[in-house]
Amino acid sequence: MLAMLRESREDALRERRDLFMLAALAYTWTHLEAQPKPGHDITAILAWNVEDLENTPDFIIDRNRNFLQQGELYHAEANVLRLAYRRLRRLVGPAREGWADTGRFAPGMARATVFTSLEPCPMCHASIHMAGVPRGYFCLEDPWLRDPQSHELRVKLPQEYYGKHLELIESRLPACLEARKLIWTLVDSGQTRLTKILADRGEELFKPAYERLTEAPVRVENAMLRAQLLLAVGKPWQALSRRQDERLVDMATALTR
Ligand SMILES: [Zn+2]
Repeated sequence: MLAMLRESREDALRERRDLFMLAALAYTWTHLEAQPKPGHDITAILAWNVEDLENTPDFIIDRNRNFLQQGELYHAEANVLRLAYRRLRRLVGPAREGWADTGRFAPGMARATVFTSLEPCPMCHASIHMAGVPRGYFCLEDPWLRDPQSHELRVKLPQEYYGKHLELIESRLPACLEARKLIWTLVDSGQTRLTKILADRGEELFKPAYERLTEAPVRVENAMLRAQLLLAVGKPWQALSRRQDERLVDMATALTR
């Protein structure tokens, strides 16, 4: 009995993490046209209390804004971290002079998980780590960070420093396995510019995730989350035409919460 309960909890958690990853990919898809070219279409989600199945996790979603902000440091992960700090500052209050504020935001970040459509670059990896976010999931591998033959990471990033630990996990979502395979096939055939790959093959890489997010049946623990993710991803009305009743119930519940 206990084993069954544990298994069911694990399934619900896996589905929840998959929904977040689907949403990261779907958001990339729904914003593909808005992204200035050339530009990297990358999305990151920072979510809190993902493991708490009694509640629907709170989350922040954003994408790469290098071109919009005219600054190279506006990567998707950096953007969600900035938004998170702004939010946490509102909760904690303004800094006081002379008050050593190290660790003020640590509890908030220790309960967060990051989901990214592309594996974090060294800058974002370090930022996520320094913020104290303990866990992250990513979808696509970045060929720039990896050995072209073995596909192993050639830029070694520490998992542990400043007393903080970051566990970065490759998503096993079928959409990610497929997308990784496609990217490596293209890289092997001589297409080394990820920007171009993402721009040219965006539909193939990201649209299936959008469709899956709008259509997949989900467990009751995750129904609200799926509705909220759909709203955050945008274009939810497109999805309504297919399974209208279920979609409407989901969204209405989310709005009246
Ligand atoms: Zn980055």
